[in-house]
Amino acid sequence: MTTFSDLGLSQKVLSAVTDAGYTTPTPIQAGAIPFALQRRDICGIAQTGTGKTASFVLPMLTLLEKGRARARMPRTLILEPTRELAAQVAENFEKYGKNHKLNVALLIGGVSFDEQDRKLERGADVLICTPGRLLDHCERGKLLMTGVEILVIDEADRMLDMGFIPDIERIAKMIPFTRQTLFFSATMPPEIQKLADRFLQNPERIEVAPPSSTAKTVTQRLVASNNKDYEKREVLRNLIREQDDLKNAIIFCNRKKDVADLFRSLERHGFSVGALHGDMDQRSRTNMLAGFKDNQITLLVASDVAARGLDIPDVSHVFNFDVPIHAEDYVHRIGRTGRAGRSGKAFTIVTRSDTKHLDAIEKLIGAKIEWQNGDLTALPPPAEHDESRARRGAKDKGRGRRDAAGHKSEKKIEQTVAVEIEETPARTESVKAERKKDQRPSHAERPARGGRTPNPANDDRRERRSHYRDRDDGPTPVGFGDDIPAFMLIQAKA
Ligand code: AMP
Repeated sequence: MTTFSDLGLSQKVLSAVTDAGYTTPTPIQAGAIPFALQRRDICGIAQTGTGKTASFVLPMLTLLEKGRARARMPRTLILEPTRELAAQVAENFEKYGKNHKLNVALLIGGVSFDEQDRKLERGADVLICTPGRLLDHCERGKLLMTGVEILVIDEADRMLDMGFIPDIERIAKMIPFTRQTLFFSATMPPEIQKLADRFLQNPERIEVAPPSSTAKTVTQRLVASNNKDYEKREVLRNLIREQDDLKNAIIFCNRKKDVADLFRSLERHGFSVGALHGDMDQRSRTNMLAGFKDNQITLLVASDVAARGLDIPDVSHVFNFDVPIHAEDYVHRIGRTGRAGRSGKAFTIVTRSDTKHLDAIEKLIGAKIEWQNGDLTALPPPAEHDESRARRGAKDKGRGRRDAAGHKSEKKIEQTVAVEIEETPARTESVKAERKKDQRPSHAERPARGGRTPNPANDDRRERRSHYRDRDDGPTPVGFGDDIPAFMLIQAKA
């Protein structure tokens, strides 16, 4: 069996690897490290969770032991599609590079240029960037790329999805042709292969698992639901409550707007929940992720882009609130659980309009996924009237006839009530009591430790409060509902 000391890594690196507790290289490490050390180009096809990061960080550390950095001329460059991934790679340099004195600069958006400028001024051995921020620095004349000896392009297929390829091409043109390029992608569709052919010279191709495989340790199930989002949310809540072994979970949505909506809905239903999507500022994203990693938050609602490649060990469950549009995303999402041989569960909520995408997923993974409680044919037919119309009817009944002007004032009342509902403690207590009645408490439903769950939408939260009541909040109360404030009950003196 190959050991780390067989790979040609330096003593300093080997000692850091031993301190990290790793004894055996993973297949991508065993395959890529010896070639990377020979300064060969590499085309690595590996998913996150396979030890891919160390497969380029460890040889880079060894190679960087010779030579030193010059101001504004980085020696190596790593391109990552998201800020979180870039930060994760920087953490890897800290862990494995603890016996080295290397300057690592992280250039990501959402943080000030000044501190990044200072780091570049000192001379960076390793530059870890998202493409946009790197180009910003180059345009400001703060960076010279002519000293880059090693270029790492990580998560190439995600770069393609995110539209970063033109940026990468611009960056690659600034780097000397004599560089060594290490190229990694979880999947190798033809566009990525073309890209690899353009960027790499006589690369060593290392493929550690078929790109379409899902880990055998993950139990996958489909759950049928009607189309409406409020119905899907209810299916999801029930599913979460049914899980006795849920430790923590990532819930994937296709669109970032849905991430925010689902987050708020779950929060309202008393779950311990956080959210991660591209529109959040860097601080909120970092805090949210830290809260999830520390088990202060049990559920994390995320979009593919935000969650791609995040190294969160031991996620017990993945829920796909939406069937992913790109079949490869299914593989990535499922890859968040069942890591390092642990068991995991992955549930996908499927509606009648998802069958095309589901077929594509099953084709890609080469297997049929089992249904949890009967397939789509077992669903009741879609409701003729949606719930909001039914409610409107009920309200009209309670309030009697209204003319056009009356309808306008009704709207106003409804908004005022909604605001009061949010802000009256008595109401909050009564809602909690209601919830207790019909909910079996689960691990996910405790409030986040350390106070309130951080909210990604803090800024517009107050503004949106009046619109908060969506369909899964239960019937809209009329007037004060059951919570008549005490002052209203004081008898008026005649
Ligand atoms: P990555 O695929 O780079 O995101 O790594 C996934 C996880 O595997 C990370 O938590 C690493 O710390 C861990 N890891 C990396 N290399 C090894 C190894 N040789 N043995 C055990 N775990 C490892």
